[in-house]
Amino acid sequence: MIDFNVPPCVGTEMEYVHQAAEVNHKICGDGPFTKQCQAWLEDRTGAEKVLLTTSGTTALEMAAMLCDLQPGDEVILPSFTFSSTATAFVLMGATLVFVDILPDTKNIDPAAIEAAITDKTRVIVPVHYAGVGCDMDAIMDIARRHNLLVVEDAAQGVMSSYKGRALGTIGDFGCYSFHETKNYSMGEGGAVLVNNPVYRDRADIIREKGTNRSRFLRGQVDKYTWVDKGSSYLPGDLNAAYLWGQLQAADAIYDDRMATWYAYDEAFRALAEAGLVELPVIPDDCVQNAHMYYLLLPSLEERTKFIAFLRERGVQACFHYVPLHSAPAGERFGRFAGEDVYTTSVSDRLVRLPMYYGMDPSDRDEVIEAVRAYFA
Ligand SMILES: *Cc1c(COP(=O)(O)O)cnc(C)c1O
Repeated sequence: MIDFNVPPCVGTEMEYVHQAAEVNHKICGDGPFTKQCQAWLEDRTGAEKVLLTTSGTTALEMAAMLCDLQPGDEVILPSFTFSSTATAFVLMGATLVFVDILPDTKNIDPAAIEAAITDKTRVIVPVHYAGVGCDMDAIMDIARRHNLLVVEDAAQGVMSSYKGRALGTIGDFGCYSFHETKNYSMGEGGAVLVNNPVYRDRADIIREKGTNRSRFLRGQVDKYTWVDKGSSYLPGDLNAAYLWGQLQAADAIYDDRMATWYAYDEAFRALAEAGLVELPVIPDDCVQNAHMYYLLLPSLEERTKFIAFLRERGVQACFHYVPLHSAPAGERFGRFAGEDVYTTSVSDRLVRLPMYYGMDPSDRDEVIEAVRAYFA
């Protein structure tokens, strides 16, 4: 069976994990590896402040907490996304307003955002699907005109950019995931990018159980105490050590995934030209990171047959997401604004192919052959 995902491992990770435990004697949060990872991410993305978190989900929760939402405040997000994009804001008492996506990138539609704004709207959450940037110029323009905060869900977008700016660095906050299904991993983990300087001190406090511990460690206050709401969002340094191995190999991981992505894309061009499938679209403004390769089949029935066919040929293919507005919790915590032209249709027809670091070219070719055989 060709697996859909294999967690990335470059071979240096365990050495660093060992170093954290037996040389540094520091396995709690904010140890040397956490600091190195944060500095690396700041350097590579140009972000002023990056904080590692225990997951992409908790990075979103930190951002949502920093938005200081009041019950009834509205947050606009795509319905075509993972549940974490929504739960972070539900936990802070917000009402969700789901909108449609665009048919090319499957990213949130700026015109649908603008049409969904009410006097209760406080936040826009663009999700960079498949690591391909949303139309951030349009979204930031809407946010400025309506005085809204922007939280980028860039969970899939590490090492991607929009008009030369790293995804996650454009809105007030950006959120990365280092889950084992993402391009760079620490098992469970993530990072929040605090781009808006107004929120920088409070981000430290919220991440450190509501205390001013980091100001104390920097010598800015002479005792450390409980000053605000918060939680514990910092990962242990063992996990950061694992991530450090991956970040050191970031370009090799990137190149390896891109090679698989381009091989798929070239192989499936002919099927697309024959009108049998639709392929991913990467706008000229965007540099992507090969987080995902997907195809769109003509219908739900076709997709079901296609996935079963691939399975018989030993290829594990997957689909996602159940549109959040039609999920039980989505109905309870939000509403869909505007018309669902693409969300349900894309959700019914999209198939993701195996894609991971270190994929053997012969396995990749087997996937390509299986896809071609289906359409032959
Ligand atoms: C993976 C993912 C998350 C959640 O990240 P975790 O690290 O698994 O908590 C959130 N949003 C999107 C779009 C994701 O793909």
